[in-house]
Amino acid sequence: MDPVVIDSGASHSYTNCNDDFIEEPTLLQNFNITGIGAHLPAKSKGKVRWITTDDHGNTITIVITAIYVPRLPVRLLSPQQLHLELPPKDSNTSSLSIGSTTSVLKWLNHSKTIVHDRNSKLPTFYIEPIVSSSLLATSTKQSNLDPHQQQLLDAHYRLGHPSMHLMINKPTQFGLPQRFSRVRVPICESCQLGKQTRTCNNKTHQRPIRGNPISPGDEVSIDQMECSLPGRYFNGPGHATSHSITVGTIFQDHASRFVYTHLQQSTNAQETLNAKFAFESLMHTYGIQIRHYRADAGAFASVSFVDKVKQSNQTINFSAPGYHQQNGIAERTIRTLTAKARTMLLHAASRWSSEIIQPNYGPTH
Ligand SMILES: [Zn+2]
Repeated sequence: MDPVVIDSGASHSYTNCNDDFIEEPTLLQNFNITGIGAHLPAKSKGKVRWITTDDHGNTITIVITAIYVPRLPVRLLSPQQLHLELPPKDSNTSSLSIGSTTSVLKWLNHSKTIVHDRNSKLPTFYIEPIVSSSLLATSTKQSNLDPHQQQLLDAHYRLGHPSMHLMINKPTQFGLPQRFSRVRVPICESCQLGKQTRTCNNKTHQRPIRGNPISPGDEVSIDQMECSLPGRYFNGPGHATSHSITVGTIFQDHASRFVYTHLQQSTNAQETLNAKFAFESLMHTYGIQIRHYRADAGAFASVSFVDKVKQSNQTINFSAPGYHQQNGIAERTIRTLTAKARTMLLHAASRWSSEIIQPNYGPTH
């Protein structure tokens, strides 16, 4: 939630977010700000929309003229301006009653008790976060698509953003009728934002890892991906604990391209051994024995891991230090997984509000 401070000393309301505007704002030149944001450059002026709740829990939309000051630390609401633009229906006064820890703002027929911020001591209320306008474009159905393209896009969302070209090349693999192979590929904004990378124009070093035919279990690439932002367990208590996920161990079978990810709290040897055990147990259910691993050094070079590999009649070889490209299959899988996670987070961030307001919104959830 984004904070808005009630500033009774301000004659205008101010915003620091361009996405608040509901219409194209007019540009300002040589406009001087007084009060909290004095000396900061103002850019433009227009109608903003701030959505909050009143004391009865009703959602209120405040549409008010505000000045855009990009470097302002917080949005400011002028109560005088609120009274002028949204006057009460039955009396001619709006009011702001200031207490020691709370203030009460009354305007139109709304009443809102506002708690003072613990640090600044200023009356501060919170509005719904604004989704960036570039992402907002993805939150509505694209009107320029034909019904088949819209259906393809919905399936693409539902299946977790797989490659659109793969979907039209082999539509039946994705549960779509064969006629989808003739559909012109629509663009998914979440994929455009989440999967963009630098392009390599030197393709000379591309070559297959191995030309000989192999079968599942013959070779498995392993690697670990680490994330500095800890994640929660699916079955956790719902709040932050010291037991959070920061590492994923990736296993990719060369022949079948099957990928398994084991979530861990750290890269320590015991947890990595547990990951190996979990992967091999899963493969065992398909009747597949693992014969060879390909790894970077790190946790996989620990004595306990190498011993376990030998005990299981398996072999392992390592990339030279610093030469991650020698473990290219696992490294590419990590890139695919991180891009996919980023895309799905962007997709969710741009759509969660419309999903809540319209629970029956298409088959995209
Ligand atoms: Zn996509």
